[in-house]
Amino acid sequence: MVYRGKFEINVATRAFLAREPGIVVGGKRIAGRSKGRIPVFDPASGLPIAEVVDAVTEDVNDAVERAHAAFRDGRWRNKTPAERERILFRFAELIEKNGEALAQLETLEQGKSIHLSRLFASAGSAEWLRYAAGLTTKVEGRTMDLSMPPGPDRWTAYTRRAPVGVVAGIVPWNFPMAIATWKFAPALAAGCSVVLKPSEFTPLSALWLAELALEAGLPDDVLNVVTGTGQGAGSALVSHRLIRKITFTGSTATGKAIARAALENMVPIGLELGGKNPAVVLADADLEVTVPGLMGGGFFNQGQVCAAASRIYVEEAIHDQLVEALADAIKSLPVGAGMDPAAQVTPLVSREHKTKVTRYLDDAKAKAKVIAGAQVPEGDGYFVSPHIVIAPADNVALKREEVFGPVIAIQKVGSRDEAIALANDTDMGLAASVWTQNLKAAMTLTRQLDAGTVWVNTHSFIDPALPFGGIKQSGLGREFGTDWVNAYTELKSICISH
Ligand code: NAD
Repeated sequence: MVYRGKFEINVATRAFLAREPGIVVGGKRIAGRSKGRIPVFDPASGLPIAEVVDAVTEDVNDAVERAHAAFRDGRWRNKTPAERERILFRFAELIEKNGEALAQLETLEQGKSIHLSRLFASAGSAEWLRYAAGLTTKVEGRTMDLSMPPGPDRWTAYTRRAPVGVVAGIVPWNFPMAIATWKFAPALAAGCSVVLKPSEFTPLSALWLAELALEAGLPDDVLNVVTGTGQGAGSALVSHRLIRKITFTGSTATGKAIARAALENMVPIGLELGGKNPAVVLADADLEVTVPGLMGGGFFNQGQVCAAASRIYVEEAIHDQLVEALADAIKSLPVGAGMDPAAQVTPLVSREHKTKVTRYLDDAKAKAKVIAGAQVPEGDGYFVSPHIVIAPADNVALKREEVFGPVIAIQKVGSRDEAIALANDTDMGLAASVWTQNLKAAMTLTRQLDAGTVWVNTHSFIDPALPFGGIKQSGLGREFGTDWVNAYTELKSICISH
Protein backbone atom coordinates (compact mmCIF):
# COMPACT_ATOMS: atom_id res chain seq x y z
CA MET A 1 0.00 0.00 0.00
CA VAL A 2 1.22 3.55 -0.66
CA TYR A 3 1.70 5.85 2.34
CA ARG A 4 -0.51 8.91 1.74
CA GLY A 5 0.17 10.91 4.93
CA LYS A 6 1.78 14.33 4.85
CA PHE A 7 5.20 13.47 6.32
CA GLU A 8 8.42 12.66 4.52
CA ILE A 9 9.15 9.10 5.56
CA ASN A 10 12.23 6.93 5.39
CA VAL A 11 12.72 5.14 2.06
CA ALA A 12 13.06 1.74 3.75
CA THR A 13 9.90 2.31 5.82
CA ARG A 14 8.01 3.34 2.69
CA ALA A 15 9.23 0.23 0.85
CA PHE A 16 8.26 -2.00 3.79
CA LEU A 17 4.72 -0.58 3.82
CA ALA A 18 4.41 -1.17 0.08
CA ARG A 19 5.07 -4.92 0.32
CA GLU A 20 2.37 -7.52 -0.22
CA PRO A 21 0.91 -8.89 3.02
CA GLY A 22 2.83 -11.88 4.37
CA ILE A 23 3.79 -13.83 7.47
CA VAL A 24 7.30 -14.98 8.38
CA VAL A 25 7.24 -18.76 8.57
CA GLY A 26 9.81 -21.31 7.44
CA GLY A 27 12.68 -18.86 7.10
CA LYS A 28 10.98 -16.41 4.75
CA ARG A 29 8.09 -14.10 4.26
CA ILE A 30 5.26 -16.05 2.64
CA ALA A 31 1.67 -15.33 1.64
CA GLY A 32 0.32 -18.00 3.98
CA ARG A 33 -2.93 -19.91 3.50
CA SER A 34 -5.39 -17.31 4.67
CA LYS A 35 -7.10 -15.05 2.16
CA GLY A 36 -8.22 -12.76 4.99
CA ARG A 37 -6.56 -9.36 5.44
CA ILE A 38 -6.49 -6.83 8.30
CA PRO A 39 -5.94 -3.12 7.52
CA VAL A 40 -3.40 -1.15 9.57
CA PHE A 41 -4.13 2.56 10.10
CA ASP A 42 -1.96 5.61 10.72
CA PRO A 43 -3.46 6.92 13.99
CA ALA A 44 -2.57 10.51 13.11
CA SER A 45 -4.66 10.59 9.94
CA GLY A 46 -6.93 7.56 10.18
CA LEU A 47 -5.68 6.53 6.72
CA PRO A 48 -4.77 2.90 6.00
CA ILE A 49 -1.01 2.39 5.58
CA ALA A 50 -0.78 -1.37 5.06
CA GLU A 51 -2.62 -4.67 5.16
CA VAL A 52 -1.53 -7.81 6.96
CA VAL A 53 -2.54 -11.43 6.77
CA ASP A 54 -5.38 -12.46 9.08
CA ALA A 55 -3.77 -15.84 9.75
CA VAL A 56 -6.01 -18.87 10.12
CA THR A 57 -5.46 -21.93 12.30
CA GLU A 58 -3.66 -23.74 9.44
CA ASP A 59 -1.09 -20.90 9.21
CA VAL A 60 -0.53 -21.10 12.96
CA ASN A 61 -0.23 -24.89 12.81
CA ASP A 62 2.38 -24.64 10.03
CA ALA A 63 4.41 -22.15 12.05
CA VAL A 64 4.27 -24.19 15.27
CA GLU A 65 5.10 -27.46 13.50
CA ARG A 66 8.10 -25.91 11.74
CA ALA A 67 9.28 -24.33 15.00
CA HIS A 68 8.90 -27.71 16.70
CA ALA A 69 10.85 -29.53 13.96
CA ALA A 70 13.65 -26.94 14.28
CA PHE A 71 13.74 -27.47 18.01
CA ARG A 72 13.84 -31.26 17.67
CA ASP A 73 16.69 -31.29 15.14
CA GLY A 74 18.68 -28.91 17.35
CA ARG A 75 19.69 -26.46 14.62
CA TRP A 76 19.53 -23.61 17.16
CA ARG A 77 19.64 -25.12 20.65
CA ASN A 78 22.65 -27.31 19.80
CA LYS A 79 24.79 -24.44 18.59
CA THR A 80 27.31 -23.45 21.24
CA PRO A 81 26.05 -20.73 23.57
CA ALA A 82 28.78 -18.45 22.21
CA GLU A 83 27.57 -18.99 18.62
CA ARG A 84 24.01 -18.22 19.63
CA GLU A 85 25.19 -15.14 21.50
CA ARG A 86 27.09 -13.90 18.43
CA ILE A 87 24.05 -14.29 16.17
CA LEU A 88 21.82 -12.45 18.63
CA PHE A 89 24.38 -9.64 18.94
CA ARG A 90 24.43 -9.40 15.15
CA PHE A 91 20.62 -9.25 15.20
CA ALA A 92 20.79 -6.34 17.69
CA GLU A 93 23.28 -4.54 15.41
CA LEU A 94 20.90 -4.91 12.47
CA ILE A 95 18.08 -3.42 14.55
CA GLU A 96 20.32 -0.45 15.26
CA LYS A 97 21.42 -0.17 11.65
CA ASN A 98 17.75 0.00 10.59
CA GLY A 99 16.88 2.06 13.67
CA GLU A 100 15.42 5.15 12.03
CA ALA A 101 13.31 3.14 9.57
CA LEU A 102 11.99 0.91 12.37
CA ALA A 103 11.28 3.90 14.64
CA GLN A 104 9.24 5.52 11.89
CA LEU A 105 7.32 2.29 11.37
CA GLU A 106 6.49 2.20 15.11
CA THR A 107 5.23 5.78 14.96
CA LEU A 108 3.22 5.19 11.80
CA GLU A 109 1.43 2.11 13.11
CA GLN A 110 1.15 3.02 16.79
CA GLY A 111 0.98 6.82 16.80
CA LYS A 112 3.61 7.60 19.45
CA SER A 113 6.12 10.44 19.17
CA ILE A 114 9.07 9.68 16.91
CA HIS A 115 11.39 10.51 19.84
CA LEU A 116 9.77 7.79 21.95
CA SER A 117 9.97 5.37 19.04
CA ARG A 118 13.69 5.99 18.65
CA LEU A 119 14.25 5.48 22.36
CA PHE A 120 11.89 2.59 23.15
CA ALA A 121 11.38 0.85 19.82
CA SER A 122 14.61 0.64 17.88
CA ALA A 123 17.35 1.58 20.37
CA GLY A 124 15.45 -0.02 23.26
CA SER A 125 14.83 -3.29 21.45
CA ALA A 126 18.50 -3.56 20.51
CA GLU A 127 19.53 -2.92 24.13
CA TRP A 128 17.13 -5.50 25.59
CA LEU A 129 18.11 -8.04 22.95
CA ARG A 130 21.78 -7.53 23.80
CA TYR A 131 21.09 -8.04 27.49
CA ALA A 132 19.30 -11.34 26.79
CA ALA A 133 22.04 -12.37 24.34
CA GLY A 134 24.62 -11.90 27.10
CA LEU A 135 22.72 -14.41 29.23
CA THR A 136 23.04 -17.09 26.53
CA THR A 137 26.49 -18.00 27.86
CA LYS A 138 25.45 -17.84 31.52
CA VAL A 139 22.77 -20.52 31.78
CA GLU A 140 23.85 -22.76 34.65
CA GLY A 141 22.81 -25.72 36.77
CA ARG A 142 24.09 -26.63 40.25
CA THR A 143 25.67 -29.59 41.97
CA MET A 144 24.55 -30.82 45.37
CA ASP A 145 25.59 -33.38 47.99
CA LEU A 146 22.90 -36.00 48.66
CA SER A 147 21.98 -37.37 52.10
CA MET A 148 20.28 -40.65 51.27
CA PRO A 149 22.27 -43.90 51.64
CA PRO A 150 24.85 -44.91 50.63
CA GLY A 151 26.07 -41.33 51.22
CA PRO A 152 27.44 -38.30 49.39
CA ASP A 153 30.61 -39.87 47.99
CA ARG A 154 28.58 -42.54 46.15
CA TRP A 155 26.32 -40.08 44.34
CA THR A 156 27.00 -37.35 41.85
CA ALA A 157 23.96 -35.13 41.50
CA TYR A 158 23.41 -31.97 39.55
CA THR A 159 20.82 -29.93 37.71
CA ARG A 160 20.99 -28.57 34.22
CA ARG A 161 18.75 -26.11 32.45
CA ALA A 162 17.35 -27.17 29.08
CA PRO A 163 15.31 -24.93 26.72
CA VAL A 164 11.58 -25.66 27.07
CA GLY A 165 10.79 -26.09 23.36
CA VAL A 166 8.44 -23.97 21.25
CA VAL A 167 7.42 -20.70 22.90
CA ALA A 168 4.26 -18.76 22.00
CA GLY A 169 4.69 -14.99 22.38
CA ILE A 170 1.62 -12.74 22.35
CA VAL A 171 2.22 -9.01 22.10
CA PRO A 172 0.00 -5.93 22.75
CA TRP A 173 -0.10 -2.68 20.74
CA ASN A 174 1.36 -0.07 23.07
CA PHE A 175 5.07 -0.83 22.53
CA PRO A 176 4.91 -3.35 19.68
CA MET A 177 8.63 -3.55 18.91
CA ALA A 178 10.02 -3.53 22.41
CA ILE A 179 7.49 -6.00 23.79
CA ALA A 180 7.94 -8.35 20.81
CA THR A 181 11.65 -8.30 21.67
CA TRP A 182 10.94 -8.98 25.34
CA LYS A 183 9.17 -12.16 24.20
CA PHE A 184 11.60 -13.63 21.65
CA ALA A 185 14.92 -12.40 23.09
CA PRO A 186 15.04 -14.52 26.29
CA ALA A 187 13.44 -17.49 24.52
CA LEU A 188 16.05 -17.45 21.75
CA ALA A 189 18.82 -16.93 24.30
CA ALA A 190 17.66 -20.08 26.10
CA GLY A 191 17.73 -22.06 22.81
CA CYS A 192 13.97 -22.22 22.24
CA SER A 193 12.05 -21.80 18.98
CA VAL A 194 9.39 -19.08 18.91
CA VAL A 195 6.07 -18.32 17.25
CA LEU A 196 5.10 -14.71 17.84
CA LYS A 197 1.73 -13.05 17.33
CA PRO A 198 1.76 -9.25 17.40
CA SER A 199 -1.36 -7.19 18.03
CA GLU A 200 -3.72 -6.84 15.07
CA PHE A 201 -3.50 -3.04 15.57
CA THR A 202 0.32 -2.89 15.31
CA PRO A 203 1.48 -6.02 13.49
CA LEU A 204 4.16 -4.58 11.20
CA SER A 205 7.39 -4.23 13.17
CA ALA A 206 7.44 -7.85 14.37
CA LEU A 207 7.48 -9.01 10.73
CA TRP A 208 10.45 -6.79 10.01
CA LEU A 209 12.30 -7.97 13.13
CA ALA A 210 11.85 -11.61 12.13
CA GLU A 211 13.45 -10.90 8.75
CA LEU A 212 16.37 -9.10 10.43
CA ALA A 213 16.86 -12.16 12.64
CA LEU A 214 17.21 -14.33 9.54
CA GLU A 215 19.66 -11.84 8.04
CA ALA A 216 21.69 -12.06 11.25
CA GLY A 217 22.03 -15.82 10.82
CA LEU A 218 19.22 -17.21 12.94
CA PRO A 219 18.38 -20.58 11.34
CA ASP A 220 15.10 -20.93 9.43
CA ASP A 221 11.97 -21.81 11.43
CA VAL A 222 13.38 -20.68 14.78
CA LEU A 223 11.58 -17.31 14.92
CA ASN A 224 8.22 -17.23 13.16
CA VAL A 225 5.68 -14.40 13.10
CA VAL A 226 1.99 -14.90 12.35
CA THR A 227 -0.31 -11.90 12.20
CA GLY A 228 -3.99 -12.03 13.01
CA THR A 229 -6.63 -11.47 15.63
CA GLY A 230 -6.66 -12.63 19.23
CA GLN A 231 -9.72 -14.82 18.75
CA GLY A 232 -8.29 -16.30 15.55
CA ALA A 233 -4.51 -16.72 15.31
CA GLY A 234 -3.88 -15.86 18.99
CA SER A 235 -6.21 -18.43 20.43
CA ALA A 236 -5.06 -21.12 17.93
CA LEU A 237 -1.45 -20.44 18.95
CA VAL A 238 -1.85 -20.56 22.72
CA SER A 239 -3.91 -23.74 22.60
CA HIS A 240 -1.60 -25.64 20.23
CA ARG A 241 -0.44 -28.88 21.88
CA LEU A 242 3.20 -28.43 20.77
CA ILE A 243 3.61 -25.11 22.62
CA ARG A 244 5.75 -25.59 25.75
CA LYS A 245 5.63 -22.06 27.19
CA ILE A 246 3.40 -19.02 26.72
CA THR A 247 4.60 -15.50 27.33
CA PHE A 248 1.90 -12.85 27.16
CA THR A 249 1.66 -9.11 27.65
CA GLY A 250 -1.76 -7.52 27.45
CA SER A 251 -4.97 -6.99 29.37
CA THR A 252 -5.89 -8.90 32.50
CA ALA A 253 -9.05 -10.27 30.84
CA THR A 254 -7.06 -11.77 27.94
CA GLY A 255 -4.40 -12.98 30.36
CA LYS A 256 -7.03 -15.00 32.19
CA ALA A 257 -8.29 -16.55 28.92
CA ILE A 258 -4.72 -17.48 28.01
CA ALA A 259 -4.07 -18.90 31.47
CA ARG A 260 -7.07 -21.21 31.01
CA ALA A 261 -5.75 -22.37 27.61
CA ALA A 262 -2.32 -22.94 29.19
CA LEU A 263 -3.80 -25.02 31.99
CA GLU A 264 -5.49 -27.28 29.47
CA ASN A 265 -2.06 -28.34 28.11
CA MET A 266 -0.26 -27.84 31.47
CA VAL A 267 2.02 -25.22 29.94
CA PRO A 268 3.94 -22.69 32.07
CA ILE A 269 2.99 -19.05 31.47
CA GLY A 270 4.44 -15.61 32.02
CA LEU A 271 1.78 -12.90 32.21
CA GLU A 272 2.43 -9.14 32.14
CA LEU A 273 -0.99 -7.60 32.60
CA GLY A 274 -2.73 -4.35 33.38
CA GLY A 275 -2.14 -1.81 36.12
CA LYS A 276 -3.89 0.92 38.10
CA ASN A 277 -0.72 2.41 39.42
CA PRO A 278 -0.59 4.85 42.33
CA ALA A 279 1.85 7.69 42.94
CA VAL A 280 2.12 8.91 46.54
CA VAL A 281 3.29 12.51 46.86
CA LEU A 282 4.41 13.60 50.33
CA ALA A 283 4.29 17.20 51.52
CA ASP A 284 8.07 17.59 51.26
CA ALA A 285 8.26 16.46 47.61
CA ASP A 286 10.39 18.65 45.35
CA LEU A 287 7.86 19.92 42.82
CA GLU A 288 10.63 20.73 40.32
CA VAL A 289 11.18 16.97 40.12
CA THR A 290 7.66 15.76 40.87
CA VAL A 291 5.71 17.73 38.27
CA PRO A 292 7.77 16.67 35.23
CA GLY A 293 8.07 13.19 36.75
CA LEU A 294 4.30 12.78 37.05
CA MET A 295 3.74 14.32 33.62
CA GLY A 296 6.00 11.61 32.24
CA GLY A 297 4.58 8.90 34.50
CA GLY A 298 0.97 9.75 33.65
CA PHE A 299 1.04 10.99 30.07
CA PHE A 300 4.03 9.44 28.35
CA ASN A 301 2.80 7.50 25.25
CA GLN A 302 -0.59 9.15 26.03
CA GLY A 303 -0.94 7.00 29.15
CA GLN A 304 -0.96 3.84 27.02
CA VAL A 305 1.56 2.33 29.40
CA CYS A 306 0.86 -0.60 31.70
CA ALA A 307 2.87 1.09 34.47
CA ALA A 308 1.36 4.58 33.94
CA ALA A 309 0.71 6.64 37.08
CA SER A 310 -3.08 6.89 36.97
CA ARG A 311 -3.90 7.61 40.65
CA ILE A 312 -2.08 10.35 42.54
CA TYR A 313 -2.46 10.59 46.32
CA VAL A 314 -1.01 13.87 47.54
CA GLU A 315 -0.65 15.25 51.05
CA GLU A 316 -2.93 18.19 51.75
CA ALA A 317 -0.17 20.80 52.18
CA ILE A 318 0.88 20.69 48.52
CA HIS A 319 -2.32 19.43 46.88
CA ASP A 320 -3.43 22.74 45.35
CA GLN A 321 0.06 23.64 44.18
CA LEU A 322 0.49 20.24 42.50
CA VAL A 323 -2.91 20.35 40.79
CA GLU A 324 -2.22 23.85 39.50
CA ALA A 325 1.23 22.92 38.17
CA LEU A 326 -0.05 19.78 36.43
CA ALA A 327 -3.05 21.64 34.98
CA ASP A 328 -0.71 24.29 33.54
CA ALA A 329 1.60 21.62 32.18
CA ILE A 330 -1.11 19.65 30.33
CA LYS A 331 -2.53 22.83 28.80
CA SER A 332 0.74 23.84 27.19
CA LEU A 333 1.73 20.51 25.61
CA PRO A 334 2.29 20.73 21.83
CA VAL A 335 -0.16 18.57 19.87
CA GLY A 336 0.50 16.77 16.60
CA ALA A 337 1.21 13.57 14.71
CA GLY A 338 3.92 11.32 16.13
CA MET A 339 6.00 12.07 13.03
CA ASP A 340 6.03 15.75 13.99
CA PRO A 341 9.17 16.05 16.17
CA ALA A 342 7.65 18.92 18.18
CA ALA A 343 4.49 17.03 19.19
CA GLN A 344 4.01 15.66 22.68
CA VAL A 345 0.28 15.00 22.59
CA THR A 346 0.09 12.41 19.82
CA PRO A 347 -2.86 10.20 18.79
CA LEU A 348 -4.04 7.07 20.57
CA VAL A 349 -3.53 3.78 18.80
CA SER A 350 -6.96 3.20 17.25
CA ARG A 351 -10.45 4.51 16.73
CA GLU A 352 -11.76 1.78 19.05
CA HIS A 353 -9.38 2.82 21.83
CA LYS A 354 -10.24 6.51 21.40
CA THR A 355 -13.92 5.60 21.82
CA LYS A 356 -13.14 3.62 24.99
CA VAL A 357 -11.05 6.41 26.56
CA THR A 358 -13.63 9.07 25.61
CA ARG A 359 -16.33 7.01 27.31
CA TYR A 360 -14.34 6.99 30.57
CA LEU A 361 -13.79 10.75 30.29
CA ASP A 362 -17.48 11.48 29.63
CA ASP A 363 -18.43 9.43 32.69
CA ALA A 364 -15.89 11.36 34.81
CA LYS A 365 -17.02 14.76 33.44
CA ALA A 366 -20.61 13.99 34.43
CA LYS A 367 -19.66 13.12 38.03
CA ALA A 368 -16.44 14.95 39.02
CA LYS A 369 -14.32 18.04 38.44
CA VAL A 370 -12.24 17.41 35.32
CA ILE A 371 -9.46 19.63 33.92
CA ALA A 372 -8.79 19.31 30.19
CA GLY A 373 -5.38 19.91 28.64
CA ALA A 374 -4.20 21.04 25.23
CA GLN A 375 -6.87 21.16 22.56
CA VAL A 376 -6.60 18.39 20.01
CA PRO A 377 -7.61 18.56 16.33
CA GLU A 378 -11.02 17.42 15.20
CA GLY A 379 -10.91 15.08 12.26
CA ASP A 380 -9.95 11.55 11.47
CA GLY A 381 -6.89 11.22 13.74
CA TYR A 382 -7.35 9.41 17.06
CA PHE A 383 -6.41 12.38 19.30
CA VAL A 384 -7.59 12.74 22.91
CA SER A 385 -6.61 15.71 25.07
CA PRO A 386 -4.82 14.93 28.36
CA HIS A 387 -7.08 15.24 31.43
CA ILE A 388 -6.88 15.44 35.21
CA VAL A 389 -9.80 14.26 37.34
CA ILE A 390 -10.04 15.74 40.83
CA ALA A 391 -11.05 13.43 43.69
CA PRO A 392 -13.37 11.09 41.76
CA ALA A 393 -16.07 9.48 43.89
CA ASP A 394 -16.59 5.71 43.91
CA ASN A 395 -19.19 5.89 41.12
CA VAL A 396 -16.62 7.24 38.62
CA ALA A 397 -15.51 4.24 36.58
CA LEU A 398 -11.91 5.36 36.04
CA LYS A 399 -11.32 5.49 39.78
CA ARG A 400 -10.74 1.73 39.81
CA GLU A 401 -10.56 0.64 36.16
CA GLU A 402 -7.53 0.87 33.89
CA VAL A 403 -8.22 3.49 31.20
CA PHE A 404 -4.91 3.13 29.37
CA GLY A 405 -5.23 6.71 28.17
CA PRO A 406 -4.07 10.28 28.97
CA VAL A 407 -5.90 10.76 32.26
CA ILE A 408 -4.83 10.85 35.88
CA ALA A 409 -6.96 11.11 39.01
CA ILE A 410 -5.67 13.22 41.91
CA GLN A 411 -6.85 12.86 45.46
CA LYS A 412 -5.92 14.76 48.62
CA VAL A 413 -4.88 12.65 51.65
CA GLY A 414 -4.60 13.59 55.32
CA SER A 415 -1.78 11.19 56.21
CA ARG A 416 0.73 8.73 54.81
CA ASP A 417 -1.28 5.86 56.25
CA GLU A 418 -4.35 7.02 54.36
CA ALA A 419 -2.26 7.28 51.16
CA ILE A 420 -0.95 3.74 51.58
CA ALA A 421 -4.40 2.33 52.35
CA LEU A 422 -5.90 3.99 49.24
CA ALA A 423 -2.92 3.11 47.04
CA ASN A 424 -3.15 -0.57 47.98
CA ASP A 425 -6.95 -0.73 47.69
CA THR A 426 -6.92 -2.26 44.20
CA ASP A 427 -6.89 -5.67 42.56
CA MET A 428 -3.83 -4.58 40.54
CA GLY A 429 -0.20 -4.46 41.63
CA LEU A 430 2.10 -3.65 38.76
CA ALA A 431 3.91 -0.47 39.80
CA ALA A 432 3.82 2.49 42.19
CA SER A 433 5.90 5.55 42.98
CA VAL A 434 6.77 7.68 46.00
CA TRP A 435 7.69 11.37 45.76
CA THR A 436 9.58 12.80 48.73
CA GLN A 437 12.96 14.18 49.81
CA ASN A 438 12.82 12.20 53.05
CA LEU A 439 14.88 9.05 52.60
CA LYS A 440 13.44 7.31 55.64
CA ALA A 441 9.85 7.93 54.52
CA ALA A 442 10.74 6.74 51.01
CA MET A 443 12.23 3.49 52.32
CA THR A 444 9.19 2.82 54.51
CA LEU A 445 6.74 3.48 51.69
CA THR A 446 8.61 1.29 49.20
CA ARG A 447 8.02 -1.59 51.62
CA GLN A 448 4.37 -0.73 52.27
CA LEU A 449 3.21 -0.33 48.66
CA ASP A 450 1.91 -3.57 47.12
CA ALA A 451 3.47 -3.58 43.64
CA GLY A 452 6.02 -5.46 41.57
CA THR A 453 8.05 -2.27 41.12
CA VAL A 454 8.17 0.81 43.37
CA TRP A 455 10.00 3.90 42.14
CA VAL A 456 11.16 6.84 44.24
CA ASN A 457 11.16 10.30 42.62
CA THR A 458 10.67 8.75 39.19
CA HIS A 459 7.95 6.71 37.48
CA SER A 460 7.85 4.18 34.61
CA PHE A 461 11.62 3.87 34.44
CA ILE A 462 12.66 0.43 33.16
CA ASP A 463 16.01 -1.23 32.47
CA PRO A 464 16.95 -4.71 31.22
CA ALA A 465 18.79 -5.43 34.49
CA LEU A 466 15.79 -4.55 36.70
CA PRO A 467 13.17 -7.34 36.98
CA PHE A 468 9.68 -6.14 36.00
CA GLY A 469 6.26 -7.70 36.54
CA GLY A 470 3.12 -7.53 38.59
CA ILE A 471 1.53 -8.95 41.71
CA LYS A 472 -2.19 -9.58 42.29
CA GLN A 473 -4.10 -9.35 38.96
CA SER A 474 -1.22 -7.54 37.24
CA GLY A 475 0.51 -10.74 36.30
CA LEU A 476 2.56 -13.81 36.97
CA GLY A 477 6.36 -13.97 36.83
CA ARG A 478 8.99 -11.37 36.00
CA GLU A 479 10.74 -10.25 32.85
CA PHE A 480 14.31 -8.87 32.63
CA GLY A 481 17.17 -9.34 35.08
CA THR A 482 19.58 -12.26 35.26
CA ASP A 483 16.77 -14.83 35.77
CA TRP A 484 15.00 -13.76 32.58
CA VAL A 485 16.33 -16.58 30.41
CA ASN A 486 15.79 -19.23 33.10
CA ALA A 487 12.03 -18.78 32.66
CA TYR A 488 12.45 -20.38 29.21
CA THR A 489 14.22 -23.46 30.55
CA GLU A 490 13.19 -26.65 32.35
CA LEU A 491 15.29 -27.72 35.28
CA LYS A 492 16.46 -31.30 34.83
CA SER A 493 17.94 -33.24 37.78
CA ILE A 494 20.64 -35.79 37.05
CA CYS A 495 21.66 -38.35 39.64
CA ILE A 496 24.54 -40.80 39.07
CA SER A 497 25.25 -43.75 41.32
CA HIS A 498 28.94 -44.81 41.52
P1 NAD B 1 -5.21 -7.29 24.69
O1 NAD B 1 -5.26 -8.20 25.86
O2 NAD B 1 -6.49 -6.85 24.08
O3 NAD B 1 -4.38 -7.94 23.50
C1 NAD B 1 -3.04 -8.35 23.66
C2 NAD B 1 -2.72 -9.41 22.65
O4 NAD B 1 -3.47 -10.59 22.94
C3 NAD B 1 -3.05 -9.05 21.20
O5 NAD B 1 -2.02 -9.56 20.36
C4 NAD B 1 -4.35 -9.80 20.96
O6 NAD B 1 -4.58 -10.11 19.60
C5 NAD B 1 -4.10 -11.06 21.77
N1 NAD B 1 -5.30 -11.80 22.17
C6 NAD B 1 -6.53 -11.33 22.45
N2 NAD B 1 -7.35 -12.37 22.81
C7 NAD B 1 -6.62 -13.50 22.74
C8 NAD B 1 -6.89 -14.87 23.00
N3 NAD B 1 -8.10 -15.29 23.41
N4 NAD B 1 -5.89 -15.77 22.85
C9 NAD B 1 -4.65 -15.36 22.46
N5 NAD B 1 -4.34 -14.08 22.19
C10 NAD B 1 -5.31 -13.15 22.34
O7 NAD B 1 -4.32 -6.05 25.15
P2 NAD B 1 -3.99 -4.71 24.34
O8 NAD B 1 -5.25 -3.91 24.28
O9 NAD B 1 -3.28 -5.06 23.08
O10 NAD B 1 -2.94 -4.01 25.31
C11 NAD B 1 -3.32 -3.21 26.39
C12 NAD B 1 -3.24 -3.98 27.69
O11 NAD B 1 -1.93 -4.53 27.84
C13 NAD B 1 -3.44 -3.10 28.90
O12 NAD B 1 -4.29 -3.73 29.83
C14 NAD B 1 -2.04 -2.97 29.48
O13 NAD B 1 -1.99 -2.69 30.85
C15 NAD B 1 -1.44 -4.28 29.15
N6 NAD B 1 0.04 -4.18 29.12
C16 NAD B 1 0.74 -4.72 30.15
C17 NAD B 1 2.13 -4.61 30.20
C18 NAD B 1 2.94 -5.20 31.33
O14 NAD B 1 4.16 -5.31 31.18
N7 NAD B 1 2.36 -5.57 32.43
C19 NAD B 1 2.79 -3.95 29.15
C20 NAD B 1 2.04 -3.42 28.11
C21 NAD B 1 0.65 -3.55 28.10
